[in-house]
Amino acid sequence: MKKINFFVITIFPEFFDCFKNTGIVSRGIKNGLINIETINPRIFAKDKHKTVDDVVYGGGPGMLLKPEPILKSYQLVKSKGHNPYVLLTEPWGRKFDQKFAQELSQKEEIMIICGRYEGVDERVKSIVDEEVSIGDFILSGGEPAALVIMDSVSRLIPGVIGDKDSLEVDSFHDGLLGYPNYTRPAEYEGMKVPDILLSGNHKLIKVWRRWKQIEKTLQKRPDLLEKADLSELDKLILNAIKNNEDFYNFINKKSVKKLVNKIF
Ligand code: SAH
Repeated sequence: MKKINFFVITIFPEFFDCFKNTGIVSRGIKNGLINIETINPRIFAKDKHKTVDDVVYGGGPGMLLKPEPILKSYQLVKSKGHNPYVLLTEPWGRKFDQKFAQELSQKEEIMIICGRYEGVDERVKSIVDEEVSIGDFILSGGEPAALVIMDSVSRLIPGVIGDKDSLEVDSFHDGLLGYPNYTRPAEYEGMKVPDILLSGNHKLIKVWRRWKQIEKTLQKRPDLLEKADLSELDKLILNAIKNNEDFYNFINKKSVKKLVNKIF
């Protein structure tokens, strides 16, 4: 059974309490598929005020997290026989995306170091495998980034996600955005669920969903479409959308019907 141990170095461990007790992550912890341990570098602060930050050499505004408490937190984890892949949250780090999450889901142990104030002393980087950013904006600390990373990686560990929240229909799973979904009622204040979804024709529904995925990706994220691994049917769909063809017109073409019957 695949399991991931997360170690989070943070001066605000309480930040993670709600996260650990909610939804999919909490279930994953209960089922022994995820473990999240926080280490507060303050336990290694030497003075009675438990100071973990200090002024920046060379002058300038703000404070920096000192190297010693963080490096000692890392050594504590190592001394217990763990060997985590170490991430440092930084706004200029490698941009976090689904591919990055998939890579991390292959690891057994991951440490996430959360910066605060102006960040961490450069010497912390001696233990870091990769710097990670969740986007081009500035957070007050690495904790929200650690949550984002742990949440998306946890979903990818086999068994964490149940049927109810299946992975295969997620956006980015196969390089495209997800298709639109509806639940009951079939009509709400004049807004109707598309007839196709009520038709019971599963082949047709599959093609329609693929059409919608490609259409949405073309409109909202054409960059993804360029990189996606498109099938023969996908390419026909893309062409039809670009030519403003009607879905029913498309699906009734002999060549398309033949291909659809072959695939589904
Ligand atoms: N002085 C820094 C910003 C510090 S923000 C600068 O000029 O870039 C404080 C901490 O929040 C950082 O050390 C980092 O750990 C975290 N952080 C801020 N923005 C982030 C982002 N986009 N992704 C990941 N972590 C971020």
